[in-house]
Amino acid sequence: MKDLKLNIRVEKAQNSRLSAVDFDNLAFGKTMSDHMFVADYRDGEWQDLRIVPYDSFHLAPATSSLHYGQSIFEGLKGFRNAQNPEEVLVFRPQENAKRMNVSAERICMPTIPEEIFMEGLHRLLEIDRDWVPSTPDSSLYIRPFMFATDEFLGMKPSDTYTFAIITAPAGKYYSKALRVKVEKEFSRTSPGGTGFAKVAGNYAASLLPAKLAAQQGYDQLLWTDAKEHKYIEESGTMNVMFDIDGTFVTAPTIPVEDTILRSVTRLTVIELIQDMGHKVEERHISVDEVIEAIKNGKLKGAFGIGTAVTIAPFAVISNDGEDFDLPSDYTFSNELKAKFQSIQKGEIEDTKGWTYKI
Ligand code: PMP
Repeated sequence: MKDLKLNIRVEKAQNSRLSAVDFDNLAFGKTMSDHMFVADYRDGEWQDLRIVPYDSFHLAPATSSLHYGQSIFEGLKGFRNAQNPEEVLVFRPQENAKRMNVSAERICMPTIPEEIFMEGLHRLLEIDRDWVPSTPDSSLYIRPFMFATDEFLGMKPSDTYTFAIITAPAGKYYSKALRVKVEKEFSRTSPGGTGFAKVAGNYAASLLPAKLAAQQGYDQLLWTDAKEHKYIEESGTMNVMFDIDGTFVTAPTIPVEDTILRSVTRLTVIELIQDMGHKVEERHISVDEVIEAIKNGKLKGAFGIGTAVTIAPFAVISNDGEDFDLPSDYTFSNELKAKFQSIQKGEIEDTKGWTYKI
């Protein structure tokens, strides 16, 4: 979008906090950039589009989203262009704008017009451009979100909402291959639920099982279907890919399954793997099939895929109390990650039009 036309009010921060940031030791999601984009939904329309200093919202105790969870979010990343460090490359933001509206519709929120999402993001990053890190393995994490703001304790869709975008410079997410546990007691979501949407409540529901798994020494869960706990769906906040003898298998998303979030990283990874000449299958994959493939040596590797991690290889899959080691000499996930990241950073040409320049 180079045709910027919305009326966005800008109020700049008096003092930047940038000089206090240690770009060599960035934690994930702890330090927010100077500004945020905000828009309010009132009287049936989005209004008061503004970029203002990052600050607290003033919320009444009866604000409905605090009680009933009418709240959604997105996550994406921006990078410095390796060919032109003045330029910021945001990875596939239009996909996040679309998915945000899929989420909004699922929980009775108004959609956000793509031009507000995109132009708000564009203007925000023009102003906070210096917050985009250039250190290796780092990026600017971008968090758009929307929440209900009616001051009302009745159970109904809110009439008013706030949409905002905040950003945070981020370092590496996971640095080692993951130990993941097949979860058969708890479910993240269920058919007919909100799994395909990026709804705040999904994440609240996943906290306890993830905490219990961490106490048992696992980094993440492998979620299984809620009905039979037979098929693998996702891992933590990642989709999952299994390399079975050179064929890459991943669970189907909407419209086939409404329990799995349609990952933007996954869309990208599927295309990259196919471009590298390998076969990808989007189909149900059972826990038994994976364990069998580990036992007979057909499982070459498995990895999680998502914005925060890009690609996160698995070292161990635990099923019914038994730990199965995955081959430690698997290199494909790292190759894939390097290729993916070099497109994101503009190190190799983006022939797909995936990167959005600011
Ligand atoms: N699944 C879930 C449940 C997630 O929260 C995420 C993170 N958005 C993903 C998968 C990965 O999606 P993406 O590649 O769009 O970040």
